[in-house]
Amino acid sequence: MIIHTKSTVSEAEAHKIAQSTKSAIFHDGARFVLVTPSKMKEVPSQFAGIVEKSWPMADDLQLGSRSYLTETRTVKIGNTEIGGNTKNTLVIAGPCSVESVEQIRQSAELMKRLGITALRGGCYKPRTSPYSFQGLGLEGLQLLSKMRDEYGFSIVSEVRDATHVDDVIEHADVIQIGAKSMYDHGILKACAKTQKTVLIKRGFGTTLQEFAQAAEFVLSGGNPNVILCERGIRTFETKTRFTLDLCGVAWLKEYTNLPVVLDPSHALGYRYGISDLAKACVAMGIDGLLVEVHPNPAVAKSDAAQQLYHDQFEQLLKELKPVANAVGRTIK
Ligand code: PEP
Ligand code: MN
Repeated sequence: MIIHTKSTVSEAEAHKIAQSTKSAIFHDGARFVLVTPSKMKEVPSQFAGIVEKSWPMADDLQLGSRSYLTETRTVKIGNTEIGGNTKNTLVIAGPCSVESVEQIRQSAELMKRLGITALRGGCYKPRTSPYSFQGLGLEGLQLLSKMRDEYGFSIVSEVRDATHVDDVIEHADVIQIGAKSMYDHGILKACAKTQKTVLIKRGFGTTLQEFAQAAEFVLSGGNPNVILCERGIRTFETKTRFTLDLCGVAWLKEYTNLPVVLDPSHALGYRYGISDLAKACVAMGIDGLLVEVHPNPAVAKSDAAQQLYHDQFEQLLKELKPVANAVGRTIK
């Protein structure tokens, strides 16, 4: 159950109620918000006088649910807003990994020329082999910060584990929590303490309920700026890397109040169909698209098979605009 206290309720009073109802508690700028376990369906009578409004909830998808907020939350990525009434579909693009100053600068030059405002690049890569490239770490984050300073991008970069979460929070504008890291409570709780935007990628074996509940860890710590990203789940199929769960996207749009971004690159895993898939994603009326693009994918240090060449991405962007317009959206 979600409880809004009256605005006059003191911190001490609010915390007393939180303790006795085993609630998460934060202040949203106007009042204290308490989130009890969802099995509680009524406000205990001794606290009735201090409650402004309460929402009994079916399950632990609470702050992120449409039963709490009917409108999609508005979330900022740099100067661009997504969700709310914006009808924006923000394209976030860039290489899988930051590899060198030359590579990230070439990427930045392309994105700037094409009007892309959100540059992605991983510096802590969650690889499936310890012998693969693991990312440039802090050096990569510093390169991304330089690109932001020079070109004005917002930077999207991922956290692999809690050891470097503070560095990513410091350098990135959007903290990406990877598919393999979305259950890491150290990361989720650190992201709850900042007001920076957090993009949570769905694990490839994660149910929609678990995915939505990962967002609750961030929301219930007082950070309302959360975006969900579908990037493919594991099915029986082996010809494609994963299976992009568009049914799941329909569910997220119906039942959660969080902006939804789609990542066709990791879902398909191969360059040949990324453009078709990206158009299908945008046709669903989504809030954002995450695409991997590399100046020379043949020599990319991670995800070489799926990253688009620069000319392919330029062409895709042209094709996405009318698709977005057809569903009442604007590519940003
Ligand atoms: C990535 O975005 O490069 C990445 C590693 O994605 P995921 O966490 O979805 O595998
Ligand atoms: Mn990648």
